Amino acid sequence: MTKTNWRWTKSLPLASRLFFSHLVVMIVGLLSLVIISKVSSPRFFVLHLERLESRGLKLINIRTELVQGFEIAWRRSTLWSVIVGTTAAGGLSYWVSKRIMQRLTEMEQITQKFAGGQLEARLPLSDIPELNRLGASFNRMAASLEGVEARRRELIGDMTHELRTPLTVVRGYLEELADGEIEPSPEIYQRLAKETKRLERLVNDLQELSKAEAGYLPINIQPVNLSPLLESLVEKFTDQMLEDGPILRSEFPSQLPLVLADIDRTEQILVNLLGNAVRYTTQGSITIRAWTEASKLWIAVVDTGIGIASKDLPHVFERFWRTDQSRDRHSGGTGIGLTITHRLVELQGGQIHVESELGVGSTFRFFLPLA
Ligand code: ADP
Repeated sequence: MTKTNWRWTKSLPLASRLFFSHLVVMIVGLLSLVIISKVSSPRFFVLHLERLESRGLKLINIRTELVQGFEIAWRRSTLWSVIVGTTAAGGLSYWVSKRIMQRLTEMEQITQKFAGGQLEARLPLSDIPELNRLGASFNRMAASLEGVEARRRELIGDMTHELRTPLTVVRGYLEELADGEIEPSPEIYQRLAKETKRLERLVNDLQELSKAEAGYLPINIQPVNLSPLLESLVEKFTDQMLEDGPILRSEFPSQLPLVLADIDRTEQILVNLLGNAVRYTTQGSITIRAWTEASKLWIAVVDTGIGIASKDLPHVFERFWRTDQSRDRHSGGTGIGLTITHRLVELQGGQIHVESELGVGSTFRFFLPLA
């Protein structure tokens, strides 16, 4: 029995709850008013009469009538005040509940529209502060979901565009080979291999990017010493440098303070930055710098390469973005490396900045928090 009652109250709509709670408050108020006045007012009236008699007024003959008259007047006025009070309070309670319910029903309809795919649906402002706050946080969530959806669509659009070019090239060569229009030669196969390598790189980068963007990249942050990593990277990249190309310089102290970072992700960041520096620098130097400032360890990769125009700088960390020069040069880049780098730095609580001048060189610097 208790269980059924509990369920009944649980499923009671909000409008009825509001109405009943107002009703209960009103009944308690009225009952206490009626009981207190019923007990105390005749007494006060009799006391008043006694005071009048003590001043010499002769009330002895009409006293009973006066008391009866008072009681009748009290009963009538109480009855009227109960009727008027109940009607007014009931009406008011109905109006208040309806107003709140209207807003809630409206909110429900809009959220359903949103769930149904109308991502531009937003809740209007309300004059009830709590509902207003709820509406504002829903609208914030809606805007961010709409952004995610727009980015997803954009990503698929960009991805298909990026995949189509190498696929078209590969298919073109294969068809021409099949028709005997071109002779199979090592050069043709090399071109085919180059395009498939590009496809492979694109797919790998995309996988990393989607993991990084969705926050699925496992990050193992702990106090680490980056000196051995920097030294081994300098060694590895020096081996890769062409003889007539830029020289690699290291400008960092042999002892670096510990930072809170994931060593593998930091290596990935540095490999990306150094890889770009090598790719876009034909002469001069590539320098790795590291220094501490406040509670941060800054690491910079400075090159004297082709540089990036100032109008392009705000876009370098965008997905699939490449400067016109690097597109023309068919550098083999995918335009995803810096997007992943940016995300990896942020995931470790740092920030990355770029400064560059066309024809002079670029500096990519990022910081990691000190342990
Ligand atoms: P990619 O794989 O094309 O190098 P990134 O995201 O790493 O992709 O870089 C995006 C674009 O930024 C590059 O295509 C290039 O145009 C430009 N860029 C990146 N690093 C450098 C650099 N060190 N010097 C000049 N341009 C650079």
